Amino acid sequence: MFSQSAVEILHRNYNAGDISYLLLDSNSGALLASRWEDYDKPISLGSLVKPFTALSYAQSHEFRYPVYECKGESGGCWRPQPHGKLDITAAIRVSCNAYFRQLAESVAVEQIVPVAQTFGLEFPDDDATSASLIGLGEQWRISPIRMARAYSELFLRKDQRGVSPILEGMRQSALRGTGAAVGRQLQHTEALVKTGTAPCIHSPSAPADGFVLTLVPADKPEILLLIRVHGVVGAKAADTAGRMLRQMEE
Ligand SMILES: [Zn+2]
Repeated sequence: MFSQSAVEILHRNYNAGDISYLLLDSNSGALLASRWEDYDKPISLGSLVKPFTALSYAQSHEFRYPVYECKGESGGCWRPQPHGKLDITAAIRVSCNAYFRQLAESVAVEQIVPVAQTFGLEFPDDDATSASLIGLGEQWRISPIRMARAYSELFLRKDQRGVSPILEGMRQSALRGTGAAVGRQLQHTEALVKTGTAPCIHSPSAPADGFVLTLVPADKPEILLLIRVHGVVGAKAADTAGRMLRQMEE
């Protein structure tokens, strides 16, 4: 039921403007609706790669995630003020770049490959820097449709080692993290959210494009919505995703 009304709402309200979207059945991975030119062409998707880099780390560290301290901009975070001490769940919630930069230092490109294979993602370039493993730069390009399906696979593997702290971070993101704009709009359901920001590929160009991936409802997802909003950061694009989901919920 959710997915039927969702398809109608997207066709009716979001077929123009700066928004690209993919709507999938989150259990089967089937594409239900789309407005996204070249959704199978690999592009930079920013922080959407972080959960998969985290899993690569976990697999080579006995599934124990580290605790790191974020000192803000001076430590390489996108946020000027420090996030402070974070575990993996908090780092996903706020999408802390300082945390993930430190984590990615201990992940080799070869360790990403088996995880990318498991989740159907394109591989990073052989000479990819550790910064590119957290979604900075252009050395790990992934097609939007593959990324969407990777997250539906991530949820299906919720009981496997290392996955649940990541999903909990996505749940908290919708409540009080970078995806909070989604949680604010939803009245009856919770969502799992991951945001991302990447260089804009449009012409005319903007400083950035924002990405939001959401699975709804959080405890037993039926739909997966991935959107890109031209010219804004991911946390701002979450406003748009929240509005879309609220209309579907009604
Ligand atoms: Zn931070």
